[in-house]
Amino acid sequence: MSVLVPPAVIGIVGGGQLGRMLAQVAQRHGYRTAVLTGGGERSPAGSVADIEIAAPFYDAAATRRLVACADVITWELEDVDLGVADAAADAGIPVRPRPQALAAAADRAAEKRALIAAGVPVAPYREAGDPSELAAAVAALDGPVMLKTARGGYDGKGQVRLPATGTEPVRAEALTEVFRRLGSVRLIVEREVPFDREVSVVIARTETGAIADHGVMENAHVDGILDTTTVPARLPEEVTAAALGIAGQVARHLDIVGVLCVEMFVVGSELVVNEIAPRPHNSGHCTIEAAATSQFEQQLRAVCGLPLGDGTCRPAAMAQLLGHLWADGEPAWSEALTDPGIHLHLYGKREPRPGRKMGHLTCVDATPELALKRVFAARDRLSS
Ligand code: ATP
Ligand code: MG
Repeated sequence: MSVLVPPAVIGIVGGGQLGRMLAQVAQRHGYRTAVLTGGGERSPAGSVADIEIAAPFYDAAATRRLVACADVITWELEDVDLGVADAAADAGIPVRPRPQALAAAADRAAEKRALIAAGVPVAPYREAGDPSELAAAVAALDGPVMLKTARGGYDGKGQVRLPATGTEPVRAEALTEVFRRLGSVRLIVEREVPFDREVSVVIARTETGAIADHGVMENAHVDGILDTTTVPARLPEEVTAAALGIAGQVARHLDIVGVLCVEMFVVGSELVVNEIAPRPHNSGHCTIEAAATSQFEQQLRAVCGLPLGDGTCRPAAMAQLLGHLWADGEPAWSEALTDPGIHLHLYGKREPRPGRKMGHLTCVDATPELALKRVFAARDRLSS
């Protein structure tokens, strides 16, 4: 395998905050970066990269430009036109992780099949492509279910919960209406999991099969959006070990070269895999301060063929900063930082729309609970 050393050019597909944090680490190591943003100029990633290519992912000329200047292609999102991977293959440039791993994560139906093939537990589910398949799926799963569009969902978008109907069959017209509301597209119908906790594992894997994780993260969502992460998750040792094992199993099955996040539900002492992302993840942001080697540095090392670093995390917490914090004007940053242990990250987005991820706060402390208290208090001070 070819090892890419600085000042090689890391080609990043995606202009968001995950690409931004990767580009920042890459630059610290002396690499250069080129970003295909998928949209406009001055994107979070593009504005810190050496080269910003502001164009849609399907733009063949832009794709060729990226491949022409990059020594390796990696991704900061999975729901993307894979034409860039073909262009890279034609040019003999490595693509890490490979496009098949992205395809398995970009479509919830493909994702479920890949997870089952990897031998890890998923919630009972059915696929539904029209209202009558939806009715059959709801009847077969018999209980509260989550409807999710097969493609394009994030932050809980494209999802509808249907409560248990008891002995009453769900009316066909009601299901037709829900199907229409979700855009009349292919759906996954999934049994609701009565979870005790939500956790995730962010794992890095090299081409030679070496892996490194950051422990198990515990995640809390508000309105379908990840709100806080604490590490380590409050789990018995054997459940922690099982979660790390599951993440390794999926990473090996998908032959990941790069970083993979596996989101899981904890039900008693059982684990159920919710979904995967073949890239750094929101729940891994605290690794920047909590670990000697962050998820972004691991991604850089893995895609460049370098040995992985130590990802072990000290107890820490992350709180997301969403656009609504700007409702009354610029948040009071200096107030948040009156606690010297608080770290501020802003993604450089100019428009603070409600629900938009604008940045996050991190704190490292003796326990995850103490760290969480401090990031909550700091976030409260932003709008006090
Ligand atoms: P994100 O982009 O934030 O990861 P997403 O839109 O891709 O989210 P999911 O992770 O599938 O969607 O679901 C979002 C949240 O909805 C989950 O973290 C969980 O809180 C809840 N949820 C999803 N599926 C189920 C389920 N089968 N049972 C119970 N809760 C669920
Ligand atoms: Mg999720």
